Amino acid sequence: MIRVKTAAELEKMKKACAVSAGALAAAGQVIRPGVTTAEVDAAVESYILSQGGVPNFKGYNGFPGSACVSLNDTVIHGIPSKGEVLREGDIVSVDCGAIVDGFHGDNAYTFPCGAIAPEAEKLLRVTRESLFRGIAAAVPGGRVGDIGHAVQSCVEEYGYGVVKDFVGHGVGFDLHEAPEVPNFGHPGRGARLTPGMTLAIEPMINSGDWRVHILADGWTVKTRDGGLSAHFEHTIVITSDGPQILTEWQVDPWKS
Ligand code: MG
Ligand code: MG
Repeated sequence: MIRVKTAAELEKMKKACAVSAGALAAAGQVIRPGVTTAEVDAAVESYILSQGGVPNFKGYNGFPGSACVSLNDTVIHGIPSKGEVLREGDIVSVDCGAIVDGFHGDNAYTFPCGAIAPEAEKLLRVTRESLFRGIAAAVPGGRVGDIGHAVQSCVEEYGYGVVKDFVGHGVGFDLHEAPEVPNFGHPGRGARLTPGMTLAIEPMINSGDWRVHILADGWTVKTRDGGLSAHFEHTIVITSDGPQILTEWQVDPWKS
């Protein structure tokens, strides 16, 4: 069941989303060569706690970190580690969120670590753009399939692969609620979009083949072909005037 939010609930959710966005910015501030993914996670966690929030990823189905930190060919769900050191040229996907006053935010961004290769930069720009195409399709009266179609048509013209095994989702009362929001689909199909719906839209885009595999740790999702993968996510609310982003990023190096 899709649970729309009241104005009062949205006010609380906006706080959770602002803290989630701040946590992503805190991650961005520490990303540089020589830093470990555990240090990125610590920056996220300490920011969320400093704002009176609770990291919603920590302990979720047993996940050990407050953020997923996913390098290069890791698509999502990278486990932060003291033994994993960022290197110049890495792309670093950070996915995190906060619970504030009982409501959840969720957002993600793929950061460059130092100077990155032109093909990596292109993947990040296009994936970011596909998120905004998807958000633009999240209008009252539309359908969930409109969002996925907008994302998919944006990236596939570059030959990129849309990850099919993981999708966006409703968010707010819980980290994951109905509906599922795939990054692929057909216009006019799927659940009807209505004001008060809050969605996490999150393209996960591979530079090559769309297929992925999960490591033996049960979490880490990697591209099957070893190519790069990028991940950008916003929590939005659908209003009668159209989509409104609740997790406005404070840093956005791929903004052009
Ligand atoms: Mg997320
Ligand atoms: Mg999400």
